Amino acid sequence: MAKNLIFLKVKCPHCEKSLMDYTQYLNAKPSIRLRIEIDNRSGILNLCSTYGCYDKTSSISIHEGEIAALICPHCKQNLNTKVLCDICNAPIVAFDLEKGGKVHICSRAGCKNHYVSFEDIYTTLTSFYHEYDYGASETDF
Ligand SMILES: [Zn+2]
Ligand SMILES: [Zn+2]
Repeated sequence: MAKNLIFLKVKCPHCEKSLMDYTQYLNAKPSIRLRIEIDNRSGILNLCSTYGCYDKTSSISIHEGEIAALICPHCKQNLNTKVLCDICNAPIVAFDLEKGGKVHICSRAGCKNHYVSFEDIYTTLTSFYHEYDYGASETDF
């Protein structure tokens, strides 16, 4: 277990509704709820909101290596972007952080590529990395 944990609160970049699921917890924190589509299968995906954790539950079976379309449950927009993963070339999925900035994750099951980016480097990035490296044991971000 990592010492310093950051819990991400994310929203849809299109309709700006929260993607947090306060009815389904993963690792004791609200999860991130999305629609998932793989080939002709579709269902609900809940991702752990702890930064760097890959735990998830889904109503459909997900096989390693498959590329999933992740879709906002509110506005039905596909959150996969045209940016490709520099590890496996699958589309990168982007969420907005409620406090500003974006979280990016790879849409391929099993690929661990993920990163956070900020538009306002001075305030957000500084506080994010400060808290990530040296901060309290739990940080809501
Ligand atoms: Zn939306
Ligand atoms: Zn990837």
